[in-house]
Amino acid sequence: MRLLSYVSELGGLRQSRSLRPRVLTHTVSFRCNARCVMCDSWRLPRQDELSTNEVASIYRQLPGLDAVRLTGGEPFVRKDMTEIADLAIEHLRPRFIHVTTNGFLTERIVAFVENRDRSVPLHMLVSLDGVEDKHDEIRGVPRSYERAVATVRALAAMRESHNLRVAVNQTVVDAEGARHYRPLRRELAQLDVRTHLVVAYKESATYSLERDLERDVDGENTYETYGSFSRAEIELLLEEAEEDLVELERPERIAKSYYLSGLRRRLLGKSGPAGPPCVALRAHLRLFPNGDVPTCQNNSRLAGNLRETSFDQLWHSAVAEEQRDWVSKCSGCWTECEILPSAAYTGDLALHALKHPLASAASARVAPTSTREPERATSPSS
Ligand code: SF4
Ligand code: SF4
Repeated sequence: MRLLSYVSELGGLRQSRSLRPRVLTHTVSFRCNARCVMCDSWRLPRQDELSTNEVASIYRQLPGLDAVRLTGGEPFVRKDMTEIADLAIEHLRPRFIHVTTNGFLTERIVAFVENRDRSVPLHMLVSLDGVEDKHDEIRGVPRSYERAVATVRALAAMRESHNLRVAVNQTVVDAEGARHYRPLRRELAQLDVRTHLVVAYKESATYSLERDLERDVDGENTYETYGSFSRAEIELLLEEAEEDLVELERPERIAKSYYLSGLRRRLLGKSGPAGPPCVALRAHLRLFPNGDVPTCQNNSRLAGNLRETSFDQLWHSAVAEEQRDWVSKCSGCWTECEILPSAAYTGDLALHALKHPLASAASARVAPTSTREPERATSPSS
């Protein structure tokens, strides 16, 4: 039923009509026990976070969703992650729950996987940005690598028995980080765990110390990277990542191929469409730790607060409409956690799979770009 209703909504979303949220990204806390160079989450003033009961009261008001993503900050600084995930399953009935973590709190994370309601698949994404000291340097805390690898190892051993998928996210912050892409993959291959890369962008409204930030997005090639790379370094990184698509399962392969093709277009100046119509504040609902509902990752101006207002009131308010107007006029970004919901719910992902059959076939590789224009500066990730 969900699939049919998803397909039937594609046309409406293309024309920006449908208001029904389908994906929730819930930042359960901005607090973080890491000190990452590319992220200000750990510097943000502490918010008055929603209690478990308040989370339950908000979830109860939302419609059934396709996916719930629990993120941070570091989500496991909260001790009620099991309750939050179970509430999501009870009230939102998603097809899967997705949790991102820096993997520092191994025991708490393993206990979460043990104790949660396992009726719905859990996708755990652990951050590892390089091998050994490189990861520690980026995360700003000694033994970060050792702790995150211990978590990945523990989770990998639980996959079969706990309705669990485990992957690693590598945020490439600089040219040295890019050189760690293959060595990190080799380390993780021993655990049969795949890596996904994102290239860190320079600024994010969500994780910036400055609040009420509207990031200036101005077109298809806007992607200002956190670190600097030569064209050859970016070419090599993208080629390696594209070659490795073959190792991913089909839905992930299509999504990653889509992300990489847009990244290539932006980082190497290949011409092409700006991206799909954005579904922020439509199919994609974001919730901040204190109940605030921001516009999107790159615009932290609020549509309202779900501690103060009911979901129905907020979602149909004039302020939400104003923010949706901003989204409609936005000329696009390539923030992975925003672009993939937009691509999925507007049909762009399906279109990509049709146009690039290799992305969905067993020997997946994104077709290399033929027109490469001069290098453009570009952006970061959380
Ligand atoms: S990138 Fe993630 S782990 Fe690092 S400081 Fe930000 S929220 Fe914490
Ligand atoms: S494309 Fe969407 S998510 Fe990206 S900046 Fe614009 S409104 Fe925000």
